[in-house]
Amino acid sequence: MLRLARQGRAAQDEEIGRAAHPLLLILSRERSERVEGRTTPTTMADNDNIDFTEAQFQRYARHLILDEVGEAGQAKLMAAHVLVVGAGGLGSPMLLYLAAAGVGTIGVVDDDVVDLSNLQRQIVHPTERIGVPKVESARATLAAFNPEVRVETHGTRLESSNVEALVGAYDLVADGSDNFATRYLLNDTCYRLKKPLVAASLAPFDGQLSTFKAYLGPPHPCYRCLFREPPPPDLVPRCETAGILGAVAGVMGTLQATEVLKELLGIGKSLSGTLLLYDALRASFHRVRIPRDPGCPTCGI
Ligand SMILES: [Zn+2]
Repeated sequence: MLRLARQGRAAQDEEIGRAAHPLLLILSRERSERVEGRTTPTTMADNDNIDFTEAQFQRYARHLILDEVGEAGQAKLMAAHVLVVGAGGLGSPMLLYLAAAGVGTIGVVDDDVVDLSNLQRQIVHPTERIGVPKVESARATLAAFNPEVRVETHGTRLESSNVEALVGAYDLVADGSDNFATRYLLNDTCYRLKKPLVAASLAPFDGQLSTFKAYLGPPHPCYRCLFREPPPPDLVPRCETAGILGAVAGVMGTLQATEVLKELLGIGKSLSGTLLLYDALRASFHRVRIPRDPGCPTCGI
């Protein structure tokens, strides 16, 4: 399928005069065959530190053939502890992709139960789990997708009394919450505990995404550098009242999962210092630079 996709992309590039060199496709295929051909543990002799099982070689084959991931990167993912806040519209695709990618330990925080009106976008929950706590529903779905992943459920609301213990137990936090109180609490706590925070938010046809690592010092901003204070509660529409095109949550949660994986692997360009905006009706993305605010109450001097 990967090969077909690459050939399709090559064909598309050709139409606009930028054809991929056929040699690149051949090299990709050779790498793919090399990984798929690894059928015995003796083939792992080139890396004594990583003991992948045969099933893991097959499950993660499309990661292992990538120079940017490879065995060392996959081992990093398998050793990682990620906290996903909210098992809703953003959390659902995030949880699915993080589990599929083999992120070893995934914490899920949510104090809600599955409701019929959630199912239009919260794709980690099937109809049969209406009335079940979302964290339990998510754990059952993820176990079916990838039983190797450890899912830690926290059926509670994040509050100032429990946030440090929860955040402190993980390497990275992904905020898929739907309220400003949680967003600011996570920003301030992640800054204090020096944890990367990948945060997304949704509007009916739009989404925003960024990564916050202000603990690294300037020029990295925090969320309060961008929006110092929460807006008044009566001005904040939520999915329940404002509505949302379900697939928009899927786009943003999937982008968020991608940024989480990039941060864990240490590859590509981090979104720290950049706000990525998605406009579904225009089918467009744009980026806005976020400067660090020296007067920020969280990360300012
Ligand atoms: Zn700040």
